[in-house]
Amino acid sequence: MKFSSWFKGIRLPRPPMAAPPVEMPAPEKVFLPLRQHRGAVAEPRVEPGQAVKMGQVVGASEEFESATVHATVSGKVEAIKQVSDPAGQLVPTVVIASDGADAWAAELAELEAPFNSAAAVTQTRPSRLLKRLRESGLVRAAVQGRPLHVELSPPMAPQSYLYMTGIPVMRPLDTLIIKAVDNDPPVSPNLACLSLAGMQLEMGVAALARISGARRVILALPAGADSSGLLALARANQWEAVAVSQTHYPYTLDNLLVLRLTGREVPSPYGEPRDVGVVVEPLITALDVGQVLASGRPVLERLFSVSGQVNKPQTFRVRLGTPIGQVLQAAGGPSKAGKIIVGGPMMGLAQYDPHAPVTRETEGVFVQAPASVQHFTDQPCIHCGRCVSVCPVNLVPSDLGKLCEFQHFEAAAEKDLLSCIECGCCAYVCPSRRPMVHYLRHGKSEVLARRMES
Ligand code: SF4
Ligand code: SF4
Repeated sequence: MKFSSWFKGIRLPRPPMAAPPVEMPAPEKVFLPLRQHRGAVAEPRVEPGQAVKMGQVVGASEEFESATVHATVSGKVEAIKQVSDPAGQLVPTVVIASDGADAWAAELAELEAPFNSAAAVTQTRPSRLLKRLRESGLVRAAVQGRPLHVELSPPMAPQSYLYMTGIPVMRPLDTLIIKAVDNDPPVSPNLACLSLAGMQLEMGVAALARISGARRVILALPAGADSSGLLALARANQWEAVAVSQTHYPYTLDNLLVLRLTGREVPSPYGEPRDVGVVVEPLITALDVGQVLASGRPVLERLFSVSGQVNKPQTFRVRLGTPIGQVLQAAGGPSKAGKIIVGGPMMGLAQYDPHAPVTRETEGVFVQAPASVQHFTDQPCIHCGRCVSVCPVNLVPSDLGKLCEFQHFEAAAEKDLLSCIECGCCAYVCPSRRPMVHYLRHGKSEVLARRMES
């Protein structure tokens, strides 16, 4: 399968310039799910009634694909119970009632000394940097994001990896792309961070390049936005800077961006950028890495964008574990009650529980006005071909939708169902309002489940 050039996808309105993030006060209670990423659930390391300090480990696992969870307030563990996460799944969660003191754990002072320059980072062994990232519990900000130490490590079992993906060549990583553009543009924490270019970012990028071994760094900047600080930093560090349109959806998604910026095609359906020698990380992740190295402490906050029909759209610096409903209130509350979507209008997940917490995977929330909420129907396909003309990976969504609707999953797999990147363009243009992405997601999960069983 070949990716198209730039005539597919859809046009979205240009996102408004985002103001720099503002700090949101710590909540009275935080809910810390013991899994905030793709991979294993951490085991609790605290008990109900126990006093905890900020940065103290409350959950950890021996599994490689797992991230350490830290207390984000000081106070007392109130309970460890099942709580619905932003994806709607019940996950064991540590609930901490804050004492308002925001006292850091004493043992953090015994960790390795913080770094004070990008040059110091560049002279440090990659394994030492990777160990520090693993201890900090960083996760790539994305739905089903992976722990950062997993993203940056080579596959644990290259032979079985090659067997599963069918990708014959594993290239060494040589290129690092830092994305200052957002996947689903109305939710735009990266756009809000354009003015945060400084030593912290320099150190974060230096660490990501050092660990991955990438010699070429490309900064993907939003076209038309004021990126003067980042451009100056790019010049000083000999990074390449490329302007990318935020209005041409979905060309800011990783695989399509890699093709656009490097000319390398990520193999489909199981491939990922590292199969063609590229690491892609969002700007906010690079900033988190820089913060960990500069402070010697885990990052306990998430940059979280609130946009759409709220009274004061804003990007907040939010303590992990804060209920999403409280962040919405900090943005003045929804001005019109419609649909609340975590992750953005095109690829996000509807959120029905205002108590679901902000986690390391979440980037923001979009509030849709009632009039804009798309009501899907079970109308048949009228063969208009619009979905075919917009699919950025050259599938025939109308056929795939019908096959999945009537449970012919293997037939859909033969028509490359697993290459679908779930961008939502087909559902967006469908005049019959068919729930295309629901059909395709369901079909993909069925195909994968059956292949795991056999
Ligand atoms: S959701 Fe899948 S099938 Fe639909 S346009 Fe996007 S990639 Fe194509
Ligand atoms: S856009 Fe909708 S109605 Fe048109 S071909 Fe695709 S699935 Fe059928």
